[in-house]
Amino acid sequence: MKLKGCIDCFLLDLDGTVYLGGKLIDGAKDALARMKAQGKVIFLTNNSSATKKYYVDKLNRLGIEATEDNVYTSANATADWIMAHKPDARVYLLASPEVTEEFISAGVNVTDIQPDTVVLTYDKTLSYDKLVKACKLIAGGAYYIATHPDMTCPSEDGYLPDIGSTILLIEGTTGIRPHLICGKPHKVMAECILSRTGAAPSRTAMVGDRLYTDMRFGIDSGIRSVLTLTGETDMAAYLSSGLKVDKIVNSIAEWDI
Ligand SMILES: [Mg+2]
Repeated sequence: MKLKGCIDCFLLDLDGTVYLGGKLIDGAKDALARMKAQGKVIFLTNNSSATKKYYVDKLNRLGIEATEDNVYTSANATADWIMAHKPDARVYLLASPEVTEEFISAGVNVTDIQPDTVVLTYDKTLSYDKLVKACKLIAGGAYYIATHPDMTCPSEDGYLPDIGSTILLIEGTTGIRPHLICGKPHKVMAECILSRTGAAPSRTAMVGDRLYTDMRFGIDSGIRSVLTLTGETDMAAYLSSGLKVDKIVNSIAEWDI
């Protein structure tokens, strides 16, 4: 598939694609400058443990120019979906204080009093008390949303438990899976970001390292899929996955765009 010169909007995963932990992928800065010369650049991350501001600060520290307009997380997609589809929802939110502030700023009614909706983020301040309350609400019929499905989060110390592990814990307790998952590969993230950028899916590229989130997201949403081998996936894993992406690059630095 011809992609060169045909992309107006670049959606970039962060961990494993632009940086690995605290280190920029070699050549990423020049690659991002080439993308910016051609279209919009949005950093699209499932990691809902941090805010847009956190990612902007991290990118800037690594020498990458970005503002909050260039960052969109699965928490942002979840807040946008709630405001579009359930604006009156009373939300019990499992999230860090900073991410909670982001939901409130987006207009979401975050409350401990008679919630009818539970929203689970990748909450690094998760406590047993929060889990007990969430399980009781979910078992009692609350609408249950998870920001994204990732089982693990890559770090310098190896893989950390991400939200998927918490989803399994809640399922083990209540027998209930989330009624809605927003982040990659799910459609909510695609609908929200495409409505923000206004770019056609066929002229949008999802560049990422993870098959079951980034690449599945592109394939299922009609967005061009570009797999980078700097993170989780090697060629053997790709070949055995059965997925067919539009392009494979060793690193974003090697993509001639
Ligand atoms: Mg990644």
